[in-house]
Amino acid sequence: MTDELLDGLGNFRSGYFAEHREEYRDLVSDGQHPRTFFVGCSDSRVSPQLLTGAAPGELFVLRNVGNLIPPPHKGGGPHGVSAAIEYAVDLLEVEEIIVCGHSHCGAVRALYDPPDGASQNLREWLELAGPARIPGPCTEATLRETERRSVQLQLQRLLEFPNVRRRVDAGSLELQGWHYVIEKGEVHILNVSTGDFVPHRPRVGVR
Ligand SMILES: [Zn+2]
Repeated sequence: MTDELLDGLGNFRSGYFAEHREEYRDLVSDGQHPRTFFVGCSDSRVSPQLLTGAAPGELFVLRNVGNLIPPPHKGGGPHGVSAAIEYAVDLLEVEEIIVCGHSHCGAVRALYDPPDGASQNLREWLELAGPARIPGPCTEATLRETERRSVQLQLQRLLEFPNVRRRVDAGSLELQGWHYVIEKGEVHILNVSTGDFVPHRPRVGVR
């Protein structure tokens, strides 16, 4: 482990933790009650808590390569994504699921330019974004559009989970699509009625 990470542990304990000791005590005695299930990419540049300012206890997070949702698992061994969805939706009863893609996503680029030496696991996993691929030359604009199309695809896949579908239909669960543009520090939010991703603008007076 790098010295920087070990220093970080010390800084956390003497800094953030010391200032929020009470909140941590409550999170232990009351348990966690996050309202949001956040599905993001494992990419080291995507930090859900940093992006949203969410405190401990506020986000239930699943991150994997490409923020991808495989079809519902039907037995045959452990399955992390299906288990996380069941935990979030059935046990924690979250009120919203955010699928957050991002610019310059390696998983999306791999649809056009498969990485050398990728193992079978990685190749099969990346195929989950396959239907978002756009025919024709691969430009930066194509990549951004594919990243957004993949977010929409994963939201559709979420609706294949009966528990998700049931709660969305009942109006107790909302699905959101985000696209984080790393170089702008900006999140574009899917407008489900138009299919457009619209840059989020801070509310007036909210810092
Ligand atoms: Zn990514």
